[in-house]
Amino acid sequence: MPFTPSTVLPGKAGRLLFTCAIGSVCTVVICDALHRTHAPPIDKDEPPAVSLRQRATPPAPPPAPPAPTRITESATVDQTFSEAAQSLGMGQSTIATLTDAFASKVDLRRDLRKGDTLSVIYDRPQGGTDVPDEPLAVRLTTGSSSHDVFLYRDPNGETRYYSEDGKSTKPAFSRYPVDFTRVSSDFSLRRLDPVTHRWQSHDGVDLAAPIGTPVRATAQGKVSFVGRQTGYGKVIMLENPPPYSTVYAHLSRFAKGIRNGGTVQRGQVIGYVGETGWATGPHLHYEVHVDDVAMDPLTVDLPGDDRLRGEERQRFAKEAQTLSVALSG
Ligand SMILES: [Zn+2]
Repeated sequence: MPFTPSTVLPGKAGRLLFTCAIGSVCTVVICDALHRTHAPPIDKDEPPAVSLRQRATPPAPPPAPPAPTRITESATVDQTFSEAAQSLGMGQSTIATLTDAFASKVDLRRDLRKGDTLSVIYDRPQGGTDVPDEPLAVRLTTGSSSHDVFLYRDPNGETRYYSEDGKSTKPAFSRYPVDFTRVSSDFSLRRLDPVTHRWQSHDGVDLAAPIGTPVRATAQGKVSFVGRQTGYGKVIMLENPPPYSTVYAHLSRFAKGIRNGGTVQRGQVIGYVGETGWATGPHLHYEVHVDDVAMDPLTVDLPGDDRLRGEERQRFAKEAQTLSVALSG
C-alpha cells in the first residue's frame, strides 16, 4: 500500500497524517482529523492536510449475522441412548462422543430405563432450519438423577464435552497404583513362569514393594471382583470407564469397605501389597485391559487430566451455568 507522508499539523509535532487512495487505516486517521473541531487552525497558505473530496465517513461494517436461536429439545428413551439421540438429529460420531462423555457417570447399556429423558440445547442459525449436529448442552435424566455435559470448543476448533465445573468427562488415570521400588517383571506376551515353570504370557507388570504398601485404584471404577483366585492370590478387579479395566493381584489384604459391586475413586486405597498366590516375593501384579485385551501398563495410552483451568474455566463455567438453567426451564 503506497503511503506518503503529506504534512504535519501545527501543534501536533511528530504526528504524521498519511494520504493514500485506499486503506481503512488511513481513512480512520483522516476522519479523526476532520472531526477534530477543536484542532488548531491550519495556516491558509499551507496545503490542506486532507482533501474534502475524500470520504468523510468510514464504510459501514458488514451487518453482523443475526444471532442464532437457542432451542431446547427432549426425547424419551424408549430402548437405547443411541436411538433417543438419533431422534434429536445427532449423527453417529456425536453419539459416540456423548456415549464416552457420559460413560464415567452412567452405564448407558445397563442403567438406562424406558422413560428416561435426553434433553439437548442447540443454537439454530437464523433463517436456516439446519440444526448443528453437536449440541451445546446435554442432560440425561435417569430415574431421579440427572447428568449434564457441556460442549467446549478450544482455540483450534476442537470440541470436547465437560461437566459443569469444567472437569473433563473423561476419567483421569494414574500410571502407577503403588509406590514401588522397581519393576520386578515386565509385561510380555510370552515368558517362563518362575512358579509353574511353563511358558506363558505375563499380562501385567510386577511392581516390587514392601508388604503392606497401600495399593490405590488408578482410575474410578466399579469392583467387579474382590476375593481369592488361583495364581492371583488375593485380587481386586475393577471395571473402569470404558474401554478400561484393571487388576491388582497378590495382595496381603483388602482395604475396608471394598466389596463386589462397590465403587472406588481414583487414588483410593483398595488393598495392600503382599505375596499371596503364585508370587516369589512381595510385589503388586498390575494389569490394564483395553476392550478386554491386556496391554502393557507402563506404556498403554491412558486418558490424562485435561480439565479446563484459569480464565478458560471461568468463562466455560459461566456459559455452562446459563445452559444448565435453560435445560431446567
Ligand atoms: Zn505378575
